[in-house]
Amino acid sequence: MKKKIETKILHAGKIDENFGAVATPIYRSTTYRMNEKIYSLIKKYCKTEDLNYKMSDEELRELRYHIFYTRDANPNVALLQKKMASIEECDDCVASSSGMGAISSTLLSLIKGKKYIISTPHLYGITFSFIFNELREMFGVETVMLEDFLSGKCKIKEKDISAIYVESMSNPFLIIPPLDEIVEKRNEEFPDVPVIVDNTFLTPVNFKPFNILDNKKDVVIYSATKYLSGHSDVIAGIACGGLMRVNKIWEKILLYGSCLDAESAYYLERGLKTLHLRMECHNKNMYEVFEYLMSNSDKYDLKIFHPLAYKNIPDFAREIVEKRRLGGMITFNINGKSEKDGIKFMKILDENGVITHATSLGGVESLISMPYNSSQPTPKQQELIGLKKYKCLLRLSVGIENSEDIINSMEFAFKKICR
Ligand code: PLP
Repeated sequence: MKKKIETKILHAGKIDENFGAVATPIYRSTTYRMNEKIYSLIKKYCKTEDLNYKMSDEELRELRYHIFYTRDANPNVALLQKKMASIEECDDCVASSSGMGAISSTLLSLIKGKKYIISTPHLYGITFSFIFNELREMFGVETVMLEDFLSGKCKIKEKDISAIYVESMSNPFLIIPPLDEIVEKRNEEFPDVPVIVDNTFLTPVNFKPFNILDNKKDVVIYSATKYLSGHSDVIAGIACGGLMRVNKIWEKILLYGSCLDAESAYYLERGLKTLHLRMECHNKNMYEVFEYLMSNSDKYDLKIFHPLAYKNIPDFAREIVEKRRLGGMITFNINGKSEKDGIKFMKILDENGVITHATSLGGVESLISMPYNSSQPTPKQQELIGLKKYKCLLRLSVGIENSEDIINSMEFAFKKICR
């Protein structure tokens, strides 16, 4: 029976065969009793007896899910992976110790022998640093700008391209890239190049990238630290896709040691069970705060960065925007004010006890931060995305508090700052 996301979020991947526990217990053991099957899989993987043996993707999957050492596999992590693969409707998933763990492992699994990656500076700041600096300095992989790829300006060969990397709603300006156009162009010109989409801000409740992407070739990534876990108490990352892709990402996680631990997997899986309920509330509260900001944009001289305020929305995203399925993020600049004013604004909010001045996002509680000094702190990226023009840029993660309390708190702070 084909099940809907709300049901899969609760039931997919359950594993406690011993006692039939409804909530999966936390398996803290780092190591598990060995058996012949595991020995034989390890020997095949390491080519111990046959240097020419080529393990199939299915065999590698079998090894990945044979629990014998927690860096390779763990019951709580396995449950989480199965649940995420079921939600995303793809072959498999691999969990990592952070969103950056998932991003770096995915990219490391794709760059061998490649000269380029196609991307954009409209990214979370550390992802930007990984793509624009780390890949170039450590592996000689240069970034080609997405707009040059789309306009046909880039004259590079398919065999040299490692991947196309975007966020489905970008941090911090909340721009939705033309994913439909990207995939169409990829299919026409570079059919073997994978598209990697970080879907952290939208979540699978609002948008499933595999509705557009190819669920064998492409990869969907999450910083599960945010909405997926939802309670600001877990650091984790997720990469979903076809079996061959996921196997390769897992190999990097294994080598570089960015595996997820059992306890974080447990809390993340628990958080996932209410993702659809939380997202409904984030979507609704965000819209109310958006309306409040729009109706006060002249009074307080605000520039609002949000898909609901943008004129150009890619075709594939029209429905998501019309239905306001956009999560809890809103970015705005208080024109004419400085970074210092922004810090004061956040302090007033913080003292009010509804919106906390803190980095991160996607938790049940409302948070506010300045991209300038938190999520996008490097001058190179700030210049490329035009962040420097906005001296008092604030990024609000609208939580699930009573929306009137959030709005009243904002109004109180605006009155103090914009006197
Ligand atoms: N992707 C996006 C869109 C983010 O906003 C973040 C962090 O804020 C990350 C990835 C990195 O995730 P993590 O902090 O879990 O490593």
